Amino acid sequence: MSRVYNFSAGPAVLPTPVLAQARDELLEWDGAGASVLEISHRGREFMGIAESAERDLRDLLDIPPAYKVLFLQGGATLQFAMVPLNLLGDKHTIDVVNTGHWSKKAIAEARRFAEVNVCASSEDTNFTTVPALSEWRLDAEAAYVHYTPNETIGGVEFPWIPETGAKPLVADMSSTLLSRPLDVSRFGVIYAGAQKNVGPAGLTIVIVRDDLLGHTAPNAPSLFDYQKQADNGSMMNTAPTFSWYMAGLVFAWLKQQGGLATMAEVNQRKANKLYACIDESGGFYRNPVEPSCRSWMNVPFTLADASLDSEFLQQAGRADLVALKGHRSVGGMRASIYNAMPEAGVDALVGFMREFQRRYG
Ligand SMILES: *Cc1c(COP(=O)(O)O)cnc(C)c1O
Repeated sequence: MSRVYNFSAGPAVLPTPVLAQARDELLEWDGAGASVLEISHRGREFMGIAESAERDLRDLLDIPPAYKVLFLQGGATLQFAMVPLNLLGDKHTIDVVNTGHWSKKAIAEARRFAEVNVCASSEDTNFTTVPALSEWRLDAEAAYVHYTPNETIGGVEFPWIPETGAKPLVADMSSTLLSRPLDVSRFGVIYAGAQKNVGPAGLTIVIVRDDLLGHTAPNAPSLFDYQKQADNGSMMNTAPTFSWYMAGLVFAWLKQQGGLATMAEVNQRKANKLYACIDESGGFYRNPVEPSCRSWMNVPFTLADASLDSEFLQQAGRADLVALKGHRSVGGMRASIYNAMPEAGVDALVGFMREFQRRYG
């Protein structure tokens, strides 16, 4: 077996011990006589798996009792629609902050259901900053405020949580959930596609405050109704059992590592090492993001001489450093360094980058 250091933005690297455990348990899950892939989502065995996954996630994030945790499908993209369908109620307008690619996607989809007030934007800095709260122009009539705490493509991350008063705050945390401790009580809804920092694709985590349930648009599909999903333990229909099981293994692994405070230390150290390598390169490598809002999870960078990009990627691949090609919309490189990327992987990347610069700089 030989595993490379995989810097994919998503589906992304999973902890090796988690994959090994899944492999060991794949043919027969804990005395069930069958694989976890083959058993009913409503049976005793899977209910046990589902419950401990939720319990561990609640422990990790210290989720207050007044919040439901839903294990849904459809990715973060479906939440771009489900959030307005569930939270708009008898209002017509929502506030959305635009900090780049995923904000824009959320805005475009929400426009199918609501008037969108883009209450703040960092477009004027080409999305290399986050807009200061003092510049946000909230609409008094808006049902909620939506933002993207970590822009996976631009590599921009809010270092603070916006204060929105009585108005519910909604966050697309797809690429940052579980990277550090989080004060869940500041939010109305938190959602995340699992395939970045939680588990395999096919699962979406939604954390929603109880008072926001029960206001779903009457013509919305029942599967899109947070209240109905909560009432049915996220099992109105066949749940994404394998992804749910795998996410549960990841949660247990995170607890074993020491929880999110430990992950935060490691993640910050990993990110610091990589940004230091970029900043100390004298312009050979460049990251355009304002240092105070650089992402801990997704680090885009360019080479001063873009004609070296393919050489960089090829040689990195030969050094077992893979999936470093930047998103097609920005080019260059991007290293996603989620929880499951070991610090040794970042050290290896930094070593490679220094050596590459020595040879071509
Ligand atoms: C990946 C990503 C999405 C899209 O997620 P899907 O699960 O593919 O729908 C949305 N928002 C952010 C911030 C992402 O990183």
